[in-house]
Amino acid sequence: MNFDNSYAALPQVFHATVKPNEVPAPALLGWNQGLALELGLASLGDDAAQLASIFSGSAMLAGSQPISMAYAGHQFGYFVPQLGDGRAALLGEVVTDAGNRFDVQLKGSGRTPFSRGGDGKSWLGPVLREYILSEAMHHLGVPTTRALAAVATGETVHRESPMPGAVFTRVAASHLRVGTFEYFAARKDIESLRTLADYAIDRHYPEVADEKSPHVELLRRVAKRQAELIAHWMSIGFIHGVMNTDNTTISGETIDYGPAAYMDEFRFDKVFSSIDNYGRYAYANQPTIAQWNLARFAETLLALGANKDELEAVLAEFPDQYESHYLALMGPKLGLYEIQEADAGLIAEWLKYLNDNGLDYTLSFRELASRADALDETRFGPFETEWRQRTGSQGRTAAEISALMNSVNPLFIPRNHRVEQAISEAVDGNLTVFNEMNAALENPYTEQPELSDYAKAPQARERVTRTFCGT
Ligand code: AMP
Ligand code: MG
Repeated sequence: MNFDNSYAALPQVFHATVKPNEVPAPALLGWNQGLALELGLASLGDDAAQLASIFSGSAMLAGSQPISMAYAGHQFGYFVPQLGDGRAALLGEVVTDAGNRFDVQLKGSGRTPFSRGGDGKSWLGPVLREYILSEAMHHLGVPTTRALAAVATGETVHRESPMPGAVFTRVAASHLRVGTFEYFAARKDIESLRTLADYAIDRHYPEVADEKSPHVELLRRVAKRQAELIAHWMSIGFIHGVMNTDNTTISGETIDYGPAAYMDEFRFDKVFSSIDNYGRYAYANQPTIAQWNLARFAETLLALGANKDELEAVLAEFPDQYESHYLALMGPKLGLYEIQEADAGLIAEWLKYLNDNGLDYTLSFRELASRADALDETRFGPFETEWRQRTGSQGRTAAEISALMNSVNPLFIPRNHRVEQAISEAVDGNLTVFNEMNAALENPYTEQPELSDYAKAPQARERVTRTFCGT
């Protein structure tokens, strides 16, 4: 195992040394063997007790120098100059044989100098939630942090009621956030800001180091990744729920699944998070918010002497960039081999139909795929006639069109009601739903008859309307 601590080697102001808690009874709930192998962690073996001990923070991972990272952030539009990892410990970085570097971080491993009033812990709910949602995201082909392990601690964590404690192990291309840049910019610590920018460039975008304006090019790369990321979220009906700048990565990965949810019935203005009172982070607002977050990033780069007009020009490109990624993803979802001018209108019409009729986002695409050669009925209103004309004009058979659609439209998403069921059963010691869901979500586009219940939309009485950060 090739382990390194490059972030811990940065100056003291970047982080605080921490020691993860020892916990009374670590027990492995989830272990992502496939990811462990991809990361070159085979030497950790498969002894559940030993893995539980390491990934609860009780036993030290060889070579690790645990730290909590300093960062700031705009939360719901308001700047908080110091947040930081209040319940997370970065164990360090694994470097794969291919030379790729990944952070390995424990979440819920105890108090840190950034904990403020919090206990630094997590209960089982958010741990299993993030495990399921982030792995599902990965298998849907969307950039995201990954889940390596979930470990029950044997401790009781006090939330609204006493809950079983757990620790989540997250793997990320890095944990650099827009908020990390804001932390140093707000303190006018330009030297550290420069060190951070150099580190970020070296780690994620080494090709910009030799450009004439590396910081403008850094913004361009990050904006491009964010445009692509948000287009993915929109295309799968994902609502992040807390798109604060401290949850906006420089790598372009999805991070922090607190109140995140995949939509069941489609609504443009859908909000799940219990704390998003004004719908700032509603589904349809996500592209605009991403651009707003990038503007906060750009402001920090101004402090490094980047040219304001050039930064603004990059920001101004964001809507078009987002739109072109979005159309490229939505086209095949509607059976289109190539996007034409008028297709944006067709896509908008489809979404309006789903919105106005409260139809299930995910399953409606699968149902539409089965109607490529339907003759008379219009299950999806006048849209359907127009759609059949458009898809029929491509010189492809209905079977080809359906096959294209089914290859990009998932059958399985992490249904909220199932996630909650997985959690409540796990609290009672039963991991069946958790394991079955993860299995189904590994192959989201494939019919899996024995797991077909997990593809179903919730009944009215099962529907989940609110999600919680769970901190
Ligand atoms: P999040 O909602 O995960 O984006 O977290 C926002 C901020 O609150 C971060 O600085 C977290 O480290 C901190 N935080 C969340 N939960 C806890 C907790 N249980 N103890 C201490 N800090 C926490
Ligand atoms: Mg966060």
